[in-house]
Amino acid sequence: MPVTTKRKTKTRASKMTYCWGASKTEGNATQKELLGGKGANLAEMTTVGLPVPPGFTIPTTMCEAYYDQGKRLPRGLDAAISKAIRRVEKETGKKFGSNTDPLLVSVRSGAAISMPGMMDTVLNLGLTDDAVQGLIELTGNERFVWDAYRRLINMFGDVVMGMSHEVFEHEFDSVKKKHGVALDTELSAEGLKEVCVRYKKVYKKHVGNNFPQDPHKQLLLSVESVFQSWNADRAKTYRQIEGIVGLKGTAVNVQAMVFGNMGKDSGTGVAFTRNPSTGEDKFFGEFLIDAQGEDVVAGIRTPKPVSQMKQWNSKIYRELLQNKKILEKHYRDIQDIEFTIERGKLWMLQTRNGKRTAAAAVKIAVDMAKSRLINRDEALLRVPAGDLVQLLLPSFTTKSKQQVKRLAKGLPASPGAATGALAFTAEEAVARAEAGEDVLLVRKETSPEDIDGMQHAVGILTSTGGMTSHAAVVARGWGKCCVAGVSALHIHAKRKCVIIDGKTYGEKEVLSIDGGTGEVMLGDVERHEPKLSADFETIMRWADQRRRMNVRTNADSPQDAKRARSLGAEGIGLTRTEHMFFEGDRILAMRQMILAETKENREKALARLMPYQCDDFVGIFSVMKGLPVTVRLLDPPLHEFLPHNLSGQRDVAHALGIRVSRVKRRVEQLYEYNPMLGHRGCRLSVTYPEILVMQVTAIVEAMIECKRKRIDARPEIMIPLVGTYEELAQLRTLTEKTILRIKKKERFKGRLSIPIGTMIEIPRAAIIADRIASVADFFSFGTNDLTQLTYGYSRDDINSFLPQYLKDGILERDPFQTIDIPGVGKLVSMGCEGGRSVNSQLKIGICGEHGGDPISIEFCNSVGLNYVSCSPFRVPTARLAAAQAEIRSNQ
Ligand code: PEP
Ligand code: MG
Repeated sequence: MPVTTKRKTKTRASKMTYCWGASKTEGNATQKELLGGKGANLAEMTTVGLPVPPGFTIPTTMCEAYYDQGKRLPRGLDAAISKAIRRVEKETGKKFGSNTDPLLVSVRSGAAISMPGMMDTVLNLGLTDDAVQGLIELTGNERFVWDAYRRLINMFGDVVMGMSHEVFEHEFDSVKKKHGVALDTELSAEGLKEVCVRYKKVYKKHVGNNFPQDPHKQLLLSVESVFQSWNADRAKTYRQIEGIVGLKGTAVNVQAMVFGNMGKDSGTGVAFTRNPSTGEDKFFGEFLIDAQGEDVVAGIRTPKPVSQMKQWNSKIYRELLQNKKILEKHYRDIQDIEFTIERGKLWMLQTRNGKRTAAAAVKIAVDMAKSRLINRDEALLRVPAGDLVQLLLPSFTTKSKQQVKRLAKGLPASPGAATGALAFTAEEAVARAEAGEDVLLVRKETSPEDIDGMQHAVGILTSTGGMTSHAAVVARGWGKCCVAGVSALHIHAKRKCVIIDGKTYGEKEVLSIDGGTGEVMLGDVERHEPKLSADFETIMRWADQRRRMNVRTNADSPQDAKRARSLGAEGIGLTRTEHMFFEGDRILAMRQMILAETKENREKALARLMPYQCDDFVGIFSVMKGLPVTVRLLDPPLHEFLPHNLSGQRDVAHALGIRVSRVKRRVEQLYEYNPMLGHRGCRLSVTYPEILVMQVTAIVEAMIECKRKRIDARPEIMIPLVGTYEELAQLRTLTEKTILRIKKKERFKGRLSIPIGTMIEIPRAAIIADRIASVADFFSFGTNDLTQLTYGYSRDDINSFLPQYLKDGILERDPFQTIDIPGVGKLVSMGCEGGRSVNSQLKIGICGEHGGDPISIEFCNSVGLNYVSCSPFRVPTARLAAAQAEIRSNQ
């Protein structure tokens, strides 16, 4: 909830710290929004009875107030922090800044969602020249104390004051050199003391002041720096990439220090309660003896697997296993924990739900439901629906990705992983692929002309285009990896090279593209092949039992239809017939039709195309027998079927035995300023009714052929891009007449029920949906065009400004990926209401790319759609997302 008024800020600001400890704990795990994940869980662990060093959280509302008040710490926060520190002093019996028994604290950021990129940690805060003496007396361990002090000055200078880490590194190295040692751990107390002196000097030089000797000052500066890190570029970028929106800010956690570096009976570690990459129920993690937490992460020393802890301290190991059980039982989920052992005593420093791979998410959810730790609905909600695609397609191994150079990043347009040499035209891709080479097709943007090359390439890489561009949509349909809109690519197709960051990569160069992240990498990267587990089948079965909406697929060929059916598709929601015109000889007949100057010649060419269409439909209807298949009549503008370059035009002229000038003239005639708003969709059928007649004939003949073979074909005819009642009424009449005519011609006596419906993809169609519904048997929302036309953003060119829009927060998400609920979504709701006001049984679906996006699917469920339709590899995602939507709607 945003703070909207000053008064509200004041009320909210009233509670400035939330403490946890043996005497009192004020927060709990449900308060992540307010206390951040870390703070909420520290409070919760304390309440559960686990050993947690005491501390307090400064809530996210303070961060929000800090920004509301022009980057000034809220009034009263200083005093509230002092009060909270006094409580920690009481709990620990130590005193902040004391020169006999000083309290040291850690300061960490912590938002509601874990977010790398913000300020991490300042440890040992509270150490001053005086406190150093106190701590030496107390511990008798001079080396440990000087080590703690130098770490504080370094972290404080680096993280809080923005100094470069190298400055400290340089000093450390010269002291090591002077003392003749190679490793940090070999440096004596004397050496570390000298490091501290030098660190303070460089601190003063860079910051302009002495390193603060007042612990309160250290603390306030650190708190402010945590607040500032919330809006650091890297944190903002991370939020944008991860789609994290609506958070107030970060909380700050201040906690009494415990030390894992106090000798051989001390240590520190991080662990997961189960294996986060496979999901196996086995304690999984690493620890280091005599070390502070950052050493495990920094990779200076190699940690040991936690299973080896038994040999070091079996009591602690048993206690940890016990805590694993307590935490899993309490949180009912896999936990990612941090712990420290100080002189033989175990302390828990953090717990949070563990991040896991898609495979682990599935296994953990099923295992936990089977052991009754969670119920089935919870298990279904635990698996991120969008991640299921990862399980169906190859992916690069993390290790091997780390070993190659990342060249650029684009949009993760179609998941998967592909490695190949570069081909710059479709023809070249076909020729080289047929000769056995793995190629990536590299284009500025693809068009239907490139289909053959796209099919032959192992992956597709484009420098422009968004998530619903031609390349993205087609690749997703095939399950082929595609990275689109990589603006860093400067493609020189003629010179057969691409320039990235000033470096040239030619046709022999091998690149790898990651369709899950949008990364473009140099060289070959090792891949995992997908393997589906029994647990995956279980989750899918549970999802099917729970969902209300049907899930169909967008497929244009029997192979895609077959794959989608094996992944659980319950029909086809969109067959884009234009894709069928590009194979083999068909394109020639199609071009002949477009080039025909009379209706008669056009009909002749169409007659040549008809058998091909009919065969395609028989293939698809057979694979989908018993299930509905929505066939969309021709949609794209005709110019997309003709070559635009002279050599291509020459080839066409030659193949058809006509003059090149005729081809050129026709291409010029078909030129449109705004082809997406031009002569396409149902407008083609109105102006060239013979095209509709040919397509409907092919559908009906295919259906009759199937029926005669006892194949239960169930086509539905869909008319695209309708904006007026009259368009649909006219085309419906022609469609019905054609159906009757063919039935008669074929002397077919059985029933031929072919619903005739339309796509709702023009805003006007959604607005007058009641009128349109009077002549439609079904609606299917084409949200790609509906988004394009509602926003006025070209779906093919959005990437030229989208990154900036996302960065500036003008848009929260790419509206071509996730439906814009207030705008486009409103039109969808209006369309549903309008349609159903005329026909309460009107079947309504969605076939835009949003049909495979979990957030959009939840929206579709909420407005009462009957089905969603998505690319084949998205079908499991849609099945699960539909179940999750239904569960959430009942919560
Ligand atoms: C749409 O516009 O949402 C749609 C499915 O059609 P196409 O992507 O083919 O324009
Ligand atoms: Mg469309």
